[in-house]
Amino acid sequence: MFRNFRMVSRVVFGRGSFNQAEEIFEARRQEAPGALVFLVDDVFRGKPLAARVPKKEKDLLIFVDVKPHEPTTIQVDALTKEAAAAGKVSAVIGIGGGSVMDLAKAVAVMLTNPGSSADYQGWDLPKVPSIWHAGVPTLSGTGSEVSRTTVLTGPVRKLGINSDYSVFDQIILDPELIADAPPDQRFFTGMDCFIHCVESLNGTFLNAFSQAYGEKAEDVCREIFLKPWETASDDKLMMASYCGGMSIAYSQVGVCHALSYGLAYVQGVRHGVGNSIVFDQLSEFYPKGVEEFRAMMEVHKVSLPRGVTKGLNEAGFTKMISVALSLEPLWQNALGPDWKAVMTPERARALYEKM
Ligand code: NAD
Ligand code: ZN
Repeated sequence: MFRNFRMVSRVVFGRGSFNQAEEIFEARRQEAPGALVFLVDDVFRGKPLAARVPKKEKDLLIFVDVKPHEPTTIQVDALTKEAAAAGKVSAVIGIGGGSVMDLAKAVAVMLTNPGSSADYQGWDLPKVPSIWHAGVPTLSGTGSEVSRTTVLTGPVRKLGINSDYSVFDQIILDPELIADAPPDQRFFTGMDCFIHCVESLNGTFLNAFSQAYGEKAEDVCREIFLKPWETASDDKLMMASYCGGMSIAYSQVGVCHALSYGLAYVQGVRHGVGNSIVFDQLSEFYPKGVEEFRAMMEVHKVSLPRGVTKGLNEAGFTKMISVALSLEPLWQNALGPDWKAVMTPERARALYEKM
């Protein structure tokens, strides 16, 4: 059975394209009257970008602080309640990095589906189409702008709502919006994209569709991260993120993401930096990718946090390993159908202990 997946319906790309937001959202208002719910990264509170959000009287603008932690199901449920209080919702718009975009996707799904977002962590669980939603990235690398998942930490695991209803209806890709991201954060989120490509291109699920996007994005990452940053790199990174996301849409991520999800769940390490910490230990699985990654870190003078699992107790290691090893499709892609013989709990533990 071939996957017949949904893609983002509309895309605007270019420097200054966010100026078109008002016109784009006006068209949506005409199509489906109701309130627009803007979820905006709290980092922009009081900043020029917040003042440019085309909010009207009945709309809701919620600043979301994603610094303390990445999106949780509790947070999605609370935001959904807040959004629903606005009355009839016409659109949900996320302006921020992967965290805020994922929150917007999840709230759009949860406004039409009953229960808690934790009930929908998995594959194809929402049954009702979501509210129309749009994404405006202010950090590039996660590929959340094109993916059909919204990654959430829930009561039992870190796992996305993987659904056609998660996919954005509209994205606005304006490279000017990512220009002021802190260099380390930009690097780590950029490495998320690079690692998506390495894992997709070295996985058993690889096919010409994924390869076409993955090779392009990987080349662009090499082009921009193996030299100092320049303005044009923002435009290129934005498209690398898009292509990296498209690459995994028709394949899967692998060893790094599986272990990184465990690390995030137990130790709260953020996605970009967590992936980088894990990837640095994976030369036995991805030798060339790890070598290139280390060269990129050197050029950008980035250092990795060390000892993130130091002092962790038995229960912590057990949970971390069980979260990681529960991600069956990732391991199948990375290591094939007999992956359990290769990635034993003991091997996963040995890798974690090195981090
Ligand atoms: P993020 O959204 O978590 O943001 C990281 C930090 O950067 C935050 O403190 C944020 O406030 C700040 N920030 C964002 N934009 C900024 C800007 N322009 N200027 C200054 N600061 C800015 O980081 P991320 O790496 O983009 O996203 C990580 C999240 O994305 C994780 O929750 C991860 O699970 C998720 N993710 C989702 C997918 C998907 O397909 N849905 C794929 C990969 C990762
Ligand atoms: Zn990722």
